[in-house]
Amino acid sequence: MDSSRYYKNPFEDYPNPTSNLIINVNTKEINENYKATLHTSTKKLLDRLEEMKSRWAYHDDYSVYTGPAGIAYTFYQYGKCFNEPAYIDKATELLRMCVNKFRGKREITFLTGIAGPLALGSVVLHSQGSQDEASNMISKLKSLSSYVLKENSELPDELLYGRAGYLFSLLFLNSNISPPPIEDELIKQVIALIIKSGHVYSASRNYKTPLMYAWHDAEYIGGAHGLAGILYLLLQARKYLTLSQLEKDIKPALDFLQDLRYPSGNFPSSIGSHTDKLVHWCHGAPAMPMLFCLAYEIYQDDRYLKTALQCGEVVWSRGLLKKGYGICHGVAGNAYTFLSLFQQTKDVKHLYRACKFADWCMDFGTHQNRIPDRPFSLFEGVAGTIYFLIDMQNPLSAKFPTYTV
Ligand SMILES: [Zn+2]
Repeated sequence: MDSSRYYKNPFEDYPNPTSNLIINVNTKEINENYKATLHTSTKKLLDRLEEMKSRWAYHDDYSVYTGPAGIAYTFYQYGKCFNEPAYIDKATELLRMCVNKFRGKREITFLTGIAGPLALGSVVLHSQGSQDEASNMISKLKSLSSYVLKENSELPDELLYGRAGYLFSLLFLNSNISPPPIEDELIKQVIALIIKSGHVYSASRNYKTPLMYAWHDAEYIGGAHGLAGILYLLLQARKYLTLSQLEKDIKPALDFLQDLRYPSGNFPSSIGSHTDKLVHWCHGAPAMPMLFCLAYEIYQDDRYLKTALQCGEVVWSRGLLKKGYGICHGVAGNAYTFLSLFQQTKDVKHLYRACKFADWCMDFGTHQNRIPDRPFSLFEGVAGTIYFLIDMQNPLSAKFPTYTV
């Protein structure tokens, strides 16, 4: 195990004599005082982010992942959660700009493609009553399907650059706009192609799982590029799945994935990797609890819950990363492990642990060994830390951005 990438967790675990200052065990909620602390820190970081406006755009990056569209997402969340319409206006303005300036019109995912600004833009505009402009964006998003559904394109299936990232955009629209604007048929076609592609690749390598994928010649298994991210998106689309897809394709792939764990409970970044070192959302244990909690709910198999809980232990002991406070490979992203375990089990131990990671994030800047390349962005920078601190104020509804629909 590589211990050079994280700080030793200095926090006392739950329960301890001071945990009741943060959490009310009876109501299973965060205490009002602690909530006020969270809110003050959120606003302080938000002000800091706004002061740096001239540095939000990095070259020609207008993505949700590392560009201004992700900052817009944080503004929208803040405006929505705390009823501050000025932040929703800021989000709208940014998203319009991102849609107009986005260069790669064939990049199709929510995180790195134009689908992100289009999907977010339509949800935000719809919430403000600008139906025509929202519909226009939805049409553009749907028109990307001709490329997504091409079988022999070089398009991958993973979340960051591939079909699972397009699927997220479609599911996001249907869960945030009523009536759902995306037809079932389109969603089913995308799912069918992701599954077919997994069959073809797995058969070509003689894998025992019905579904396997590769990205850039590596068989990744984590949230961002790998099998876990793809399976999580498929399971979240369960109302569009057939029984056969659920039982014969996805379940055995989940079992295969589960067996890839290291003895520590962490997951390798790709097949064949034997160095138990990365504990990030993008690679490693932190993206797994969301997937395995949902798998537990759907299949009622206790082993899935056990796997999710074991990931929680890994993140608690090795999740305070030296890389910093971000969502993709930072402390804020890792804290969503505890939020998803709390949502599933209602055990306040996990909520307490999320609060301790939030404490760490509120000391923003004091513990990191390097400044990220895009220090204000949603996935690498402070916009992501703010997004997490907003979610902490309503932990039962928290959702890892762009991963949980
Ligand atoms: Zn990452």
